[in-house]
Amino acid sequence: MRRTLQWALMLLLCLPASLTAQTRKHVILYIGDGHGIAPRTATRMALGQGRPGSRFSDEPNFHLLAQDRLRYNAMVTTHSLNSWITDSAPGASVYAVGKRGKIDNEFISLDPETFEPLETILEAAKKAGYAVGLVTTTRVTHATPAAFAAHIWNRDLEDYIAAQYLSSSQEEYEAIFNAGPGYDPARDWVLPEPKVGVEIDVILGGGARHFLPRNNPDVNGNATVRDRNGQPITDGNGQPVVLSGRRSDNVDLIEIAKDRGYVYVNSRDALLGILDRLDEFSPENDAKLLGLFSSSHRSYEAERQQLYPWEPALWEMTMVAIEVLKRKSDKGFFLVVEGGRIDHLEHANAGGIGYEGDRYTVVADVEAIIADDVYGGGTDRLAGVYGSDYMIKEVLDFDYAIEEGLNFMNDATAGQTLILSTSDHECGGFTVVGLHDAEDAQGNGTLIRTYARQPEKTDGQFTPVPENIDRGDDEIGGWFPEYELVEFQGKLWPEPAGPNARRIVIAYGSNPLVNGNGGTIGTTPGNHTPQDVWVGADDNVDGAFASRITGRGLLDNTDLFPIMRDFLGVTTTSNERLPDEKRSGLGAVEAYPNPFGEKLAVTLAIDRPQTVSLEVYNALGQRVRVLQPSAQLTPGTHTIAWDGRDDTGASVASGLYLVVARSGEQVVSRQVVRIR
Ligand SMILES: [Zn+2]
Repeated sequence: MRRTLQWALMLLLCLPASLTAQTRKHVILYIGDGHGIAPRTATRMALGQGRPGSRFSDEPNFHLLAQDRLRYNAMVTTHSLNSWITDSAPGASVYAVGKRGKIDNEFISLDPETFEPLETILEAAKKAGYAVGLVTTTRVTHATPAAFAAHIWNRDLEDYIAAQYLSSSQEEYEAIFNAGPGYDPARDWVLPEPKVGVEIDVILGGGARHFLPRNNPDVNGNATVRDRNGQPITDGNGQPVVLSGRRSDNVDLIEIAKDRGYVYVNSRDALLGILDRLDEFSPENDAKLLGLFSSSHRSYEAERQQLYPWEPALWEMTMVAIEVLKRKSDKGFFLVVEGGRIDHLEHANAGGIGYEGDRYTVVADVEAIIADDVYGGGTDRLAGVYGSDYMIKEVLDFDYAIEEGLNFMNDATAGQTLILSTSDHECGGFTVVGLHDAEDAQGNGTLIRTYARQPEKTDGQFTPVPENIDRGDDEIGGWFPEYELVEFQGKLWPEPAGPNARRIVIAYGSNPLVNGNGGTIGTTPGNHTPQDVWVGADDNVDGAFASRITGRGLLDNTDLFPIMRDFLGVTTTSNERLPDEKRSGLGAVEAYPNPFGEKLAVTLAIDRPQTVSLEVYNALGQRVRVLQPSAQLTPGTHTIAWDGRDDTGASVASGLYLVVARSGEQVVSRQVVRIR
């Protein structure tokens, strides 16, 4: 009997660890900002689609993109609460919080009616024990990543968003502002209590300017870009690369981040150096990763490859993020990866299609248009490189990041993994309009080849048609783009085969609205459109979750949230505005400390008056204690103590227990471990 008891006790104590090995769960959500269908098609074409003999059905070397290989696909709407045409703030917030009724423009994950923070899927995951990460090519404080881990009434308040990322409590958040001379008594950055946001385990992207003080940003040496050995990195002119700061409170947030356990890197070399020190990151310690590789957005991929090689690719950031996150929690992780600058190229690459004499031209796809530096971080554009080729590299960088996720998902030891890839909105109404003509590719305006010739047979002779439009009919085989694949930093990238090669033209097709994004060079900048966007999904649990995007017709953009929530098994306290008769309003059950010895504090959040019971079950499924008989509770957070005794007053054995809250048909629970 005693041996059996000891064995049972050992089993119970071992249970949490062995359970987690089998049930590790990971969600990677990819968002291509502004990523419509055309840039994706163009990128695949640049990799060889459509060349003679290269056929999807039977060509083994046909280059499919990683996003092409996600097995489940759907279309999703993008409109916000009050606009057909959305912005990244509501566009991403709706994925983050699943708010029925959507989010108003410019809000970052706030309820549009009450202005209260809406807990995000990332925050709920973190509170449930998952590690969490944000990776992007934009400033890390930009609207899309911010929607998952910040709450603020205007997306442009990026100094505050940065501070929210690094704070696990209201106290920590306010301490950041109290640390500097720029403290603002208006406190329009205050989060209502209790703080909803959580501390992020991995933050990688651009945007150092919102972490570094405006005056003397390198006061602590954090603005100097350094390699893995701490040596300063120099640019093409031999000058040290230094990041700039613009925090108006003059706080060095990076120094505070280091105090809070963050390992800070600011170069590609230092980021990849993390792979040699992964054992520094564990569930037990406080180590987290902050990588900021540019003052504002990371450079466009095309320019990164030529001019700024000390910045990392998105796929490299994703790779390192996955490696760190999978070590930070035995439970799994939630990671958002944004290809954030596809949208910027679409904003900047504007114009329209014209007809000159005997040919169509696209005035948009010339290098001068990309000279618009609204989104450029003040850098020069590459001479002779057209907007389309910028776009193809930007999409490919995003796609390689998806490839990293797929590789992880297909690793049998990964645990259960769900991958979703979508966009917050389309931008520019982009379309693939054809090919640059070989002879006119560098001209002012671009001769466009559209569809291949259809010979006509007259009197036994084939003759090309039509006569009056030059479609390149005299060049058989001239209907395919001429790209070569070159290797750069371990990946293949398409480069034009020569300065006059036939290249794909992807250009703005509609919505010629001047919206303040520029237009100073005689063109009309593109803007967001209300087009539906694509969502792809895959998982390694027989499609049980990924398949939920299919079989339903068109998806609403509130529909992705519950799939991620159910996969992770988390509840959020403030979203899911179901019709009242369906709402239970039952939030998560939390328990502290866990494991516990003599006393456990159980908290339960509810958001409307309802009848709730709270009970404790043992590992055999037997109810041992009624903590709260079924009773009407008021909205708010209720704390109920458990003294570790059963209903007879006897102290229960060490082991695993389940605290279960019930309201109507909804049940939420929390595993707890008692150690006597
Ligand atoms: Zn945009």
